[in-house]
Amino acid sequence: MAGAAMALAAALGALSPALAQVPSTEGTFDAAVFAAAAKVQPKVVAWRRDIHEHPELGNREVRTAKLVADHLRKLGFEVRTGVAKTGVVAVLKGGKPGGVVALRADMDALPVAEQTGMPFASKVKTEYNGQTVPVMHACGHDAHVAILMGAAEVLAGMRDQIPGTVVLLFQPAEEGPPAGETGGAWLMIQDGALTNPKPDAVFGLHVAPGQPGRLAWRPGPMMAADDSYQITLKGRQTHGANPWAGIDIISMSADIVQAFNQIAARQIKVTITPTILTISTIHGGLRYNIIPEDLTMTGTLRSFDQTLRKEVMARAEKAVASISDRYGGSGEIAWGLPNPVTSNDLALTARMKPTLARAARGDIRDDIEYITGAEDFAFYQQQVPGLFYDLGIGFPPGVNHSPMFNVMDESALEVGVRAQALTALDFLQGTAPAR
Ligand SMILES: [Zn+2]
Ligand SMILES: [Zn+2]
Repeated sequence: MAGAAMALAAALGALSPALAQVPSTEGTFDAAVFAAAAKVQPKVVAWRRDIHEHPELGNREVRTAKLVADHLRKLGFEVRTGVAKTGVVAVLKGGKPGGVVALRADMDALPVAEQTGMPFASKVKTEYNGQTVPVMHACGHDAHVAILMGAAEVLAGMRDQIPGTVVLLFQPAEEGPPAGETGGAWLMIQDGALTNPKPDAVFGLHVAPGQPGRLAWRPGPMMAADDSYQITLKGRQTHGANPWAGIDIISMSADIVQAFNQIAARQIKVTITPTILTISTIHGGLRYNIIPEDLTMTGTLRSFDQTLRKEVMARAEKAVASISDRYGGSGEIAWGLPNPVTSNDLALTARMKPTLARAARGDIRDDIEYITGAEDFAFYQQQVPGLFYDLGIGFPPGVNHSPMFNVMDESALEVGVRAQALTALDFLQGTAPAR
């Protein structure tokens, strides 16, 4: 609720008392950043293609992390490796006094069989949760790594002029760790990625289908909280010919699907912020004529509002309990570790809007719709003010996570490099002591 009010205030332009207090940085670093980003662009393209051809799943980004760490050491960063398993945290102290800013790129790929037909398409297969699976950078994290390596080179070249310290967070397992492991932004924070030094702000970007080089975001809540869950049902096994002789958990599961689909919009108001409750998998049974004893279902709850989230959870639990009870079986719902809402700090977002506009030569949208996808950048934003934005990369035949996802227009990568470098520099300029 508060989130919606804040987003509305942002849309009306009523949010920027902080803006006036920040010294104007208009254009200070632009010429140097634009020139350096253009110069590093061929390398960024080559890195992205190389990383794309050699994708690694979450917590297994060994080759990628080495590529990153070697590059950053050469540039003069202080480099910590093995953070959150395979993460890299790198610090560049500028030549002038000022605050600390962090830039983040995620490094992991997905178990997807690539179908782009590109010359550098992935042919990699690996072990994942006990199965052999194909691996692909189907979410564009290859681009994120290449962009931040490029921004690192731009920033290192301007080191003497940097008013403060830049921290780079190359993070593993944004898509979630393999079964039985922890990982991602949460573990980066546990492992001290945001201490020594502690950033005053954090910036990150995500490539997405859209006008090439366009930067897009919304102030306040932008991407949903993600609560995964597993439902375990227990009935009494029986012959398919005699369902009355047992407890039919197949029918129970069907009732639960129907009940869940009637929660959002029928019992929960969905006009404030999107609230999505989805059952994605159902596993049960071995034979066409045996109704099984056990069945599991998994799914996800996406929400933007804490009160609505709690209400949906309570209603989902009640539905599972009452339907199980009605059939005489038993049912339980277990919630996974929550991923919070990715929420852009209002003052920071207002302050950085001119910077992003210059980085994208004016091609920005700051009023995009809520995104019901989730992003673990949210964990950093719980610790320090943060801004997360999308970078358009053209219109691939498939969206993120599809086997056809691709950076269609690689010129967009250069905009990403400019945006990462300029947000860091302009933010630090605003923290520098007055002279
Ligand atoms: Zn993804
Ligand atoms: Zn992603």
